[in-house]
Amino acid sequence: MPTDPRDFLTAAVTAAGVTATNNVHVQDHSHQAVPSDVALRVKSLESLLIEKGLVDPAALDAIVDLMEHKVGPRNGARVVARAWVDPAYKERLLKSGTASVAELGYSGWQAEDLQVLENTPKVHNLIVCTLCSCYPWAVLGLPPVWYKSAPYRSRAVIDPRGVLRELGTELPEDVEVRVWDSTAEQRYMVLPERPAGTEALSEEALAALVTRDAMIGVAKVMSPQT
Ligand code: FE
Repeated sequence: MPTDPRDFLTAAVTAAGVTATNNVHVQDHSHQAVPSDVALRVKSLESLLIEKGLVDPAALDAIVDLMEHKVGPRNGARVVARAWVDPAYKERLLKSGTASVAELGYSGWQAEDLQVLENTPKVHNLIVCTLCSCYPWAVLGLPPVWYKSAPYRSRAVIDPRGVLRELGTELPEDVEVRVWDSTAEQRYMVLPERPAGTEALSEEALAALVTRDAMIGVAKVMSPQT
């Protein structure tokens, strides 16, 4: 039975010895009256640093704005959509990820040495950082909590098919699964397969179909009608 990614995440953080509820639901609780312990600590630290004149509040706002609006998986989705509609771009992208994502304005932010891996009907790529949480921020944003969890990091290499199955992606036995372990220097991004029935879609509409999980390789991009 496919498991909701949230269940996998819950299991992952529980196994990591962390209180799952607090972590899994952090983003859902913006309405709660009392901020979380982490939020309070961050606020206290921020206030102290500003009070001591060690950081400029405007600089902090600029970083938050960057993370919220400019760095994120939408960037990677635009790269994928461009590769789907422009064969010459796709060829460049697979040859030199870093230079090709920079063509679309995405550079730095952990994409200094980026390799893009193409999924095909016979090959499925999956990315992980077994050591910590290396991730191409410029194109995928910040890594999800489960990507950083010990269970994902270990199981992705030991039993990638099992991890994919739990996340809802069942691959036929004749599909080769390749697991790519990121390092401090080398980052990866998956170029998912273009789904059937999308021939008439614009590049923008195609980009809207592409998910973060598909670019990590734990999901496929679904046709619009599914
Ligand atoms: Fe890492």
